[in-house]
Parts: sequence; C-alpha cells; structure tokens
Amino acid sequence: MKSSDCIFCRIVAGDLPAAVVYDDPQVVAFLDTGPIQPGHTLVIPKTHADTLHTCPPESLQAVSQVLGRIAHAVVKATQCDGYNCLCNNGRVAGQSVDHVHFHIIPRFAGDGFMQNWPAQSYAEGQMGRMAAEIKKKLE
Ligand code: 5GP
Ligand code: ZN
Repeated sequence: MKSSDCIFCRIVAGDLPAAVVYDDPQVVAFLDTGPIQPGHTLVIPKTHADTLHTCPPESLQAVSQVLGRIAHAVVKATQCDGYNCLCNNGRVAGQSVDHVHFHIIPRFAGDGFMQNWPAQSYAEGQMGRMAAEIKKKLE
C-alpha cells in the first residue's frame, strides 16, 4: 500500500488533521473520530504495516514502550472505570483501516460495549493439540 492511500500514514505525514495526544519519532497517538466513548484513542507505529503479525518487532517495541503510559493518561483524563486495548486484524475482526493500531477505549459501568463474549470450551485433548500446533509454528 502506498502511504498516500493510507489515512493513518497521511496523519503521520501531517497531510490529514488529527487530535494528537502523543508524538515521538516512531509512534503517534490521536483521538478516534468515531469514538466508542470520548477519549477513545488510537496508538500507531509511524512506519506503515497492515497488521500486528506483519508489523516489524522494532515498531511494536516502540509502541509497547508507550502504550501503557498513554492508557494511563486516558484513564486519568476520562476518569473511566476501565478500558479495553484492542487491535483488530482483518475485516472479519473489525479492522477497517489497514495500518496497525491499538484502540484504547474508555469503559464505564453499564456502557453496554462488548457485552457478548461467546466463550466456547475445548473437547477432550483439543486444547493440547491446538497448543502444540501453535508452538510448532513459532519454531
Ligand atoms: P478499526 O476498525 O480498523 O479497528 O479502527 C479504525 C478506527 O479508525 C475506527 O474506530 C475509526 O473511527 C477511526 N478512523 C477512521 N478514519 C479516521 C480518521 O480519519 N481520523 C481518525 N482520527 N480516526 C479515524
Ligand atoms: Zn499506513
């Protein structure tokens, strides 16, 4: 993807306006224009990558250095009861902007967001097989 086609790269380049709350040489954070709650913040690496699993570790490291600090600032500014830190990857997971980003979404008791968490259970032996499969892919 050309960076001129990516709205978050355009924000990084200063070609699109954003309510920036944090900026360093590798990371920028700004308010989401379609917030779940006021203060809903997006934290992104400045270098373009589509998804978490295609993002270079150096970029993720830079984000992880500041993610907690930015989340803490959102907690203090919004006085929220808690927050979700979400990274949607792929359309099926709700990703609409193909530049990896971490949502910090302030949460309040009874706000109704993410009510549905349809937890399943494993059949006998299935969990161990799945763990082994993932472990193998990490080798
Ligand atoms: P996703 O659905 O990809 O996980 O999240 C993308 C987020 O980017 C959405 O919550 C959407 O409201 C936000 N967004 C889309 N376009 C813009 C924009 O131009 N500026 C800002 N600040 N946020 C945007
Ligand atoms: Zn981009």
